[in-house]
Amino acid sequence: MNMKHSKKKKTGLIRLLEIAGRKKWWLFSSMILSVFATIAQFIPFIAVYLIITELAGNATNIAAIDQSYVYRLAYISLAAVGAFGLLLYVSSMLSHIAAFNILYEIRIKLADKLSRLPMGYFTKKATGEITKVMSTDVERVELFIAHHIPDITSAIVFPILLIIYLFSVDWRLALAALVPFPIAIAFQIIMFNSQATKEKYKQYHDALEKMNATVVEYVRGMPVVKVFNQSVDAFIRLKKDIFAYRDFTKGITKQYSTVYPAFLTILSSSLFFIIPVATMLLLQSPSYENFIPKVFLFMILGGGMFFPLFKLMWIGGFLREISIGVERIDNILLSTEIPETNKSCIPQDTSIEFKNVTFAYDDTSVLKDVSFTSKPNTITALVGPSGAGKTTIGLLIARFWDINNGEIKVGGVGIDEIRIEDLMDHVSFVFQDGFMFFDTIEENIRMGNKTASKEEVIKAAKAAQCHEFIEQLPKGYETLVGEGGTYLSGGEQQRIALARAILKDSPIVVLDEATAYADPENEAKILASFAELTKGKTVIVIAHRLSTITNADQILVIDKGSIVERGKHEVLISNKGLYWRMWEAYSKSRDWTINVKGGRST
Ligand code: ADP
Repeated sequence: MNMKHSKKKKTGLIRLLEIAGRKKWWLFSSMILSVFATIAQFIPFIAVYLIITELAGNATNIAAIDQSYVYRLAYISLAAVGAFGLLLYVSSMLSHIAAFNILYEIRIKLADKLSRLPMGYFTKKATGEITKVMSTDVERVELFIAHHIPDITSAIVFPILLIIYLFSVDWRLALAALVPFPIAIAFQIIMFNSQATKEKYKQYHDALEKMNATVVEYVRGMPVVKVFNQSVDAFIRLKKDIFAYRDFTKGITKQYSTVYPAFLTILSSSLFFIIPVATMLLLQSPSYENFIPKVFLFMILGGGMFFPLFKLMWIGGFLREISIGVERIDNILLSTEIPETNKSCIPQDTSIEFKNVTFAYDDTSVLKDVSFTSKPNTITALVGPSGAGKTTIGLLIARFWDINNGEIKVGGVGIDEIRIEDLMDHVSFVFQDGFMFFDTIEENIRMGNKTASKEEVIKAAKAAQCHEFIEQLPKGYETLVGEGGTYLSGGEQQRIALARAILKDSPIVVLDEATAYADPENEAKILASFAELTKGKTVIVIAHRLSTITNADQILVIDKGSIVERGKHEVLISNKGLYWRMWEAYSKSRDWTINVKGGRST
């Protein structure tokens, strides 16, 4: 079942190309054109050298200069510059096409994967991370492929061409020009590739991430900060992390402020070796005229020979970032999917059965040996202290996660033998977060039943007590809601979610009765719509106000993940156990509320 890391893990660019699939050919085409562009870029240097050779060869006899040859070389250079521009343009176009195609491929793969992950995967934290991967990490991949891949190609090809050419012109001067190279590499390995540097790089990223996280937390927590008058404390924490980042980067900058210029100096020190060698060779050279152009060529090209390689060093940093991004993408792509059954059994009735169910989120055990049966058309209420595991029981019926032990049956069939779609057809869920899509109110309700007519949508809205407030909105049922749309209160969202469930009309309803958002007026309406939704259904209700469940067919009292009491209201009261204590506390708080309200109204 666990597919995680089943094959050997590829990372970084290699894995990126694997994810890109056939779209990687765009990228390869871009790289090939970039190679041609680099060759074109190189041609004028050769032409200039040939021109100087021609001029120097005839320095004493200007009339002997082959003018047409010089002109031809000049035209070739001009054409090469033009070709360079054109090839670079097309290569960059292709790399952008490659980038957006690969982006598309990655996003489609992610979206496809997300649809096959267990619903429990989508906790608030995971959703935040998914958003980050889908936007930031995928965009970073775009930036890298579109801009850096052609750069990397030319940064590698240019020095290679140059070295081959310089060796073909004069191997002795070429060797002199190459002297700084091994020195720079050794320097780089010692200074930048040590374990300490890698550790520093990691620390730098940690400090950056920490600062970013604190900034986000600071902004997100602003309402709480303000309500509890914690502005100063929250700001101190933010300031501390920003300063920690600043101090860290300052430290690194200071540390590298000598090393880095030294490295640059070594890299550009070719002339330091070329000039003495050239002078020596010149003194021994029988043909002065032939040698001078070579020295010129080495002076022009030798000095900046390694700067393209220097670019590669920056790209190393980008590659590391891409690897982190690809790893995050892979974390999603390689997550364990919910095993989908091929059998596709259909529930036979509307009963629900838990048999010795044990479940843990990661390592924290939440449910222990939970067994109960809800007969068709009965109401089962789950009550108990906060954190006892009530919501988890509700979510497990929807197969948000797979359980560790035991069995959950719906309609007499194990839920792992029912296709998720069929399971969803049979069960409606109304939870505290009445999720709204960015669409019209009408479509948000129609989510419950795609084929419903407008009349049916309105009927469901009326039953869910939300028709009235919808009508009062400027565009009625056409009003856009969800992120970016009209703001709806928590109670209103919950009633829309209820309308959705009423429209769906599935035979089993799991609902969280929490009306945390509800004001008294909303509360009465929500309770009325609950009654409408649950008529003639098998209902599991996570109850918060015990007064609403006194008529339930069975009440399960959950404490620390186990059912500690079960039965009807009267029986549980007479048992004088946890339920009775909860009922006493509840009655007191209710009386208190009524008294306070009474006091106010008089
Ligand atoms: P209740 O609905 O009775 O308040 P829950 O079922 O929500 O209780 O939670 C039961 C326990 O499981 C709690 O200790 C809670 O912290 C933990 N829990 C709930 N959701 C998650 C999750 N997604 N990941 C890890 N632990 C969770």
